[in-house]
Amino acid sequence: MTKTSNEPPRLLADLRTLCLPTIAGQWRRLGEEALRQRQSHGEYLADLAALEVSHRREKRIGRLISEAHFPILKTLDGFDFRAQAAIDREQVLELCTGEFVGKAVNVVLLGGVGTGKTHLATALGVALCQRDLRVRFTTAAELTNTLVEARGESRLSRKLEQLARFDAVIIDELGYVPFDKSGADLLFNFVTKVYEKRSLIVTTNLPFSRWGEVFLDATAAAAVIDRIVHHSVILKTEGESYRLGQAKGSARKAGLRKVGKI
Ligand code: ADP
Ligand code: MG
Repeated sequence: MTKTSNEPPRLLADLRTLCLPTIAGQWRRLGEEALRQRQSHGEYLADLAALEVSHRREKRIGRLISEAHFPILKTLDGFDFRAQAAIDREQVLELCTGEFVGKAVNVVLLGGVGTGKTHLATALGVALCQRDLRVRFTTAAELTNTLVEARGESRLSRKLEQLARFDAVIIDELGYVPFDKSGADLLFNFVTKVYEKRSLIVTTNLPFSRWGEVFLDATAAAAVIDRIVHHSVILKTEGESYRLGQAKGSARKAGLRKVGKI
C-alpha cells in the first residue's frame, strides 16, 4: 500500500454516520501497519472490516450476557467434570452449540444441593449468549413472584410475551420453595406459553415423583412435568456437594483428620 495521506476531512463524520466506530478509531494504526507489512488496499480494508465485526460481536455478546442476569458468571472451563462423573462432558459440549434451542428442547438438571446444577445451567446459558441467543436466568421463586406481581398490575400477558421472547429461560431452584396455588397456576401458564416454542433450562433438587410437593397438587405438577419433559434432555448430577468435597480435600491436605461442621 502507498503512503496514507493525512486524515481525509469527511472520514470520521462518514464513519460515524455508518456506525463504524472501530474503523474510525483504528484506521490510522492499521494503515501504518499495512504500510509496514506492504499489504494491498484490499487486505487493509479486510483487516479493518474484520476488526469492526469482531468488536461488534464482543459488544453484542456482552449485552446478551448482561441481559441474561446471571447471578454469577460461570463457564464450562471452570467446571471440573472429573468431580461430577455422572455428567457426560461431550453431551454438555453438544448442548453448548445451542442446537437444542432451535428445536425448543428443554434441559433439566436434577441433583442434590451443591452438585453443580446452577453452575452448569449458567455455563450453558453463557455459551448460548456466545451463539447469539437471548437467555434469561431466573429462579423459580423469582419467576412466580414476577408473574404474580404482573397479574396484580394487569400486565400478565405482556410479561409472558416478554419472557417468551427469550430463546431460553433458565429456571433455577425449582423445588426449593413450594408455590401457593396462584404461583403454581402462573408457572403452568408460562410453561404452556413457551411449550414447543422456546427452551427451558430447569434445575431442581427434586425427582419428578416429588414435584407434587412443590405444586401442592399432583395434577398441576403432572401437567408441568409433562410439558417440560416431553422434549427434553435430562442431566443428573450426583454425589456430595462440590464445596464439601473441596473442604474435605483441603482439610486432608492440611493434615486434619476430621472435617468439622462446615
Ligand atoms: P447446585 O446448584 O447444584 O446447588 P452449584 O452449581 O451452585 O450447585 O455449585 C456450588 C458451588 O460449587 C459453586 O460455586 C460451583 O461453581 C461449584 N461447583 C459445583 N460443582 C462443580 C464442579 N464439578 N466443578 C467446579 N465447580 C463446581
Ligand atoms: Mg443451585
